Amino acid sequence: MTAERNKLLMKINYTLKRSRERRKTISLNISHNNEIVICAPYFTSQREINRFIQEKQSWIEKIIKKHADKALLIKERKFVSGEYFYYLGESIELEAFFEPKEKKGLVLWNNRFYLNSPDDKETRKHYFVLWYKQKALEHIGKRVDFYCRQLNLRARGVRISSARQRWGSCSPDNKLAFSFRLIMMPPDVIDYVIVHELMHIKEKSHSRRFWKLVAEAMPQYKTNQRNLKKYGEAFTF
Ligand SMILES: [Zn+2]
Repeated sequence: MTAERNKLLMKINYTLKRSRERRKTISLNISHNNEIVICAPYFTSQREINRFIQEKQSWIEKIIKKHADKALLIKERKFVSGEYFYYLGESIELEAFFEPKEKKGLVLWNNRFYLNSPDDKETRKHYFVLWYKQKALEHIGKRVDFYCRQLNLRARGVRISSARQRWGSCSPDNKLAFSFRLIMMPPDVIDYVIVHELMHIKEKSHSRRFWKLVAEAMPQYKTNQRNLKKYGEAFTF
């Protein structure tokens, strides 16, 4: 195999690997850091390779854009003005400042976050967590009551946790816990996690019966489940 750097008119940088093995087709691979590798049979002409890239160009651009969007979403938060934070699925801009004489903490007003805090990341994050926890308790508490009435179930208390991966849980004696991070998700997604945990009151394992119960209570649960996965890693910090 020989590898050479190439550059095309369309500004797609790639590494070409020519194979002496009996490869018959040209193939293309994009890594997570957008490195493009093209494998081609040894005697493939540059024209053929260019044509191949031309055909794949819009696909390549789509993948690169997808990677960029993802990187933007999961980049580490600094808790400074101009950053966006999620609440009930909405992306809200932060304005951070420090007025020592005013009450410190986070306020949501007119679709904007206002944070009065000393300028250090940990303190600022702390105020966000406090705010999210309080909102999570209010919102999730209400929704648990609503679904308990609707589904005729009884939960023995609701607690807000700091779990990073575990969105919700139901203990053997039916105490429910939900991560404060859930409050960043859209309301439908939050409802799905609530219904999911409430159904564990009836059925502890993820058996067929369990998923049937979830589907009866929430016919569109699969969409919400998919969105939980999709937003899960992107929204939170
Ligand atoms: Zn479960």
